[in-house]
Amino acid sequence: MSEHALVDIQGLVKAYDLLPILRKLDLTIARGEFVALLGPNGSGKSTLIRLLCGLSRPTAGLIRIGGWELPKESAAVRAQIGLVSHKPLLYDNLSAIENLQFFGRLYNLSGSGLQAHIQAMLVKVGLAKRGHDLVRTYSRGMLQRLSIARALLHNPDILMLDEPYTGLDQDASTVLDGLLKEAHADGRTILMTTHDLPRAAVLPTRVIILSRGVIGYDASASGLDALSLAQIYANVTSMVSAR
Ligand code: ADP
Ligand code: MG
Repeated sequence: MSEHALVDIQGLVKAYDLLPILRKLDLTIARGEFVALLGPNGSGKSTLIRLLCGLSRPTAGLIRIGGWELPKESAAVRAQIGLVSHKPLLYDNLSAIENLQFFGRLYNLSGSGLQAHIQAMLVKVGLAKRGHDLVRTYSRGMLQRLSIARALLHNPDILMLDEPYTGLDQDASTVLDGLLKEAHADGRTILMTTHDLPRAAVLPTRVIILSRGVIGYDASASGLDALSLAQIYANVTSMVSAR
C-alpha cells in the first residue's frame, strides 16, 4: 500500500525541547483523498502540516510525498503542495494581481501565460472584479479566497489548509465549501485541519482525529453526520486526556 501512497509518513516524531508533540505517527494518504484533520488545540495539527510542507524538520521518522523524501528533497515536495495557513501570506500594500504575480515568479512562472493564468484563478475564486484593489481593502473571506488562488497557482497535486474556516461568516464559509469541492473534483488531494465538525462530517472522504500526538481515530467519512462525529470526537479526545 505505502508505495502507492501520495503522502507516506512512518514513525514521525516531532519534539520541542524534548517534549514530544507528535509521537511515532504512521499515516498514508492516497491520491484523491480529502482528509479532515481534527483535534483539540495544541494536539499537533499545525505542526504536522508544517512538517509535511518542509517548513519544519522531523525529530525522527520518515516523510515521503509523491515519492520525494523530506527534508532532503524539500524543493520537489513543495512544488507539489499548495498551502493555505493561518496567516494569509499576502502583501497588504499590493493588489491581488500583484500578489499573484509575485508568487508566480517564485514558482518560475512568468509572461503572458502567467497573466492569463492569474486572471483565470481570480475568476475561479470570485475576485475577478477586485483584482486591482489593494489586499488591505479585502475582507477576511476575500483574503481566504485569494490565499486559495495563491496556493493553487502552481497547480499543485495536494492542497493543505490549516483551519481555513476560522473567522469566516456563513456566506464566506459556503463559498469556501464550493472552492474545496471544486479542487477535490479537479483531482487534488486535500488535507485540511478544522474545528468545524459539521463540515468535517460531510465535506471530506476521510476523518482523522489527532489527540495528544497520536491518531485517535481514522475512518472513512461516508455515513458520518454531524451528531455522530461530535460523539466520536468527544469520546476520542476525552479518552486520551483521561489517561
Ligand atoms: P494545533 O495546531 O493542533 O493547535 P500545534 O501544532 O500548533 O497544535 O501545537 C502543538 C504543540 O506544539 C503545542 O503545545 C505548541 O505549544 C507546541 N509548539 C508548536 N510550535 C512550537 C515551537 N515552534 N516551539 C515550541 N513549541 C511549539
Ligand atoms: Mg493549529
